[in-house]
Amino acid sequence: MANRPAKPNKVPTNHRKVAVIGSGPAGLSCAGDLAQRGYEVTIFEALHVPGGVLMYGIPEFRLPKALVQKEINNLRQMGVDIQTNMVIGKIYALDELMELGYEAIFIGSGAGLPSFMRIPGENLNGVYSANEFLTRINLMKAYQFPSSDTPVKVGRRVAVVGGGNVAMDAARCAKRLGADEVTIIYRRSEAEMPARIEEVHHAREEGIIFRLLTNPTRILGTDSGWVRAVECVEMELGEADSSGRRRPVVKKGSEFQIEIDTIVIAIGTSPNPLIKSTTPGLETQRWGGIIVDEATMATSKEGVYAGGDAVTGAATVILAMGAGKTAAQAIDDYLNKKHQADG
Ligand SMILES: Cc1cc2nc3c(=O)[nH]c(=O)nc-3n(C[C@H](O)[C@H](O)[C@H](O)COP(=O)(O)OP(=O)(O)OC[C@H]3O[C@@H](n4cnc5c(N)ncnc54)[C@H](O)[C@@H]3O)c2cc1C
Repeated sequence: MANRPAKPNKVPTNHRKVAVIGSGPAGLSCAGDLAQRGYEVTIFEALHVPGGVLMYGIPEFRLPKALVQKEINNLRQMGVDIQTNMVIGKIYALDELMELGYEAIFIGSGAGLPSFMRIPGENLNGVYSANEFLTRINLMKAYQFPSSDTPVKVGRRVAVVGGGNVAMDAARCAKRLGADEVTIIYRRSEAEMPARIEEVHHAREEGIIFRLLTNPTRILGTDSGWVRAVECVEMELGEADSSGRRRPVVKKGSEFQIEIDTIVIAIGTSPNPLIKSTTPGLETQRWGGIIVDEATMATSKEGVYAGGDAVTGAATVILAMGAGKTAAQAIDDYLNKKHQADG
């Protein structure tokens, strides 16, 4: 995205239509590169605002939304049509997009399906997935409630479960929304934390409490169904597991409770199965990642390409943008060859 001219021009059309599903960094970079080559690109975005995680996940204090907005405006100036509130797999299936005249499709639908711990109490009020918590804050401006439509309950004491960048963002947002005590609960030690060192550093600087080698076993509620505490066990590190990280093992008799008002679960996400389940012939990994040829990002279905978190699982902005660019090149090659063969 960053290497495009400051004032993008609309390139003369080659009259070939390409559909891009999802407007995160993968979809935006693919759409931009295709528009620069003269393609008529339509982005179909499920949410009411384009930008993907850049808009709904990463907080304003780390990524100003005006920067993302500028990039999206540039794409519109280049002629990219961005249609929001369009859930592909519900409104149109991929085959229907092809019938509408799209000659190729890029799937950049991300990995927005949150994982839960499957412990008792996860359905209590006051339990959020990190995605929901951050979306309420970043996209729906819940901190302005009631002048915004969406509320968010933060409370005085917040627990965030997980040790990645998403957990750090959720914890720092909770602090900014006025929580007195925000505790990160992570089952391994700091050395195994997947979050970047600087994110952990910022969180510590802002007063976030770290309960390491600690694992939640149960969320406890009030009579009216709201969270009141989380029960945890202490862990110690055993032998290395298949990921090379030392496996956390429960310390017998170490149960204890932390009193909380809200708990945010930030233990990972996977691709939403909607597109897979409505697209015959689209092969995926068992965990949901779309299988592609890494050189071209071509999927098992002719004319359909994919990239970003929808392929890799939760990864990075740079990787998603790179995948979008690789796919744009491959789509251009594919359609040029197809049209040459058709004469
Ligand atoms: C809180 C948080 C913080 C992060 N911080 C960083 C960071 O600091 N640095 C970094 O490099 N990475 C970070 N990441 C990861 C990074 O944001 C992702 O790897 C990246 O956004 C993936 O891009 P993507 O385009 O594949 O998917 P996404 O950004 O997830 O975009 C996918 C888009 O597709 C849309 N969509 C989904 N299904 C459909 C459908 N059926 N029809 C139409 N549209 C659909 C979604 O609504 C979404 O807008 C962070 C992630 C999170 C959640």
